[in-house]
Amino acid sequence: MNEDLKCPKCRQIDMVQKLSVLYEGGIAKIQYQAWVPPPPGSKLPPILTKREGTNQTALSARFAPPPQPSVKTVKAPPLNSRYKFLALGLFLISLVLSFTSNYILVSYIILASAVIPLVIGLMKREEERNRIWRENVVPRWERAMSKWNSLFYCARDDGVFIPKDGNWVSAENIETFLWE
Ligand SMILES: [Zn+2]
Repeated sequence: MNEDLKCPKCRQIDMVQKLSVLYEGGIAKIQYQAWVPPPPGSKLPPILTKREGTNQTALSARFAPPPQPSVKTVKAPPLNSRYKFLALGLFLISLVLSFTSNYILVSYIILASAVIPLVIGLMKREEERNRIWRENVVPRWERAMSKWNSLFYCARDDGVFIPKDGNWVSAENIETFLWE
């Protein structure tokens, strides 16, 4: 018996299990047969088909690992004003040209080119958003994942703990605990 795996709350080991094992053990791939109804209006008989699915115990579903946050969860930083000013400048130049000279075509070209700094600015902003995600969000999620991987669950107290750590966390507070 591994003394290190004793639950800090009840000081026993008999109902302790690694959380990730509990999670994965509770998911089973199943094959089943299902009747597929014919298309509406047709006179064909229903067909029996093989299907695959997963069956997950309620306990396993409770202890799913923290999902990786997508880039979309990062708020886009504001557009750099340099690009806005550049676009505005080009727009004004084209406006002035169209009123004060005969270079209408040139003024149109300049007007169209005002879009370029905006596009570049938006691309830079997206890059910055990706960088924040890569450097802040993903490492934070990786920490939560590694915490999740080291958790043990005691069914007697419905709580989790990290061996040798001494702390005990109630099952309903796991999510907060993982991300803090
Ligand atoms: Zn316990």
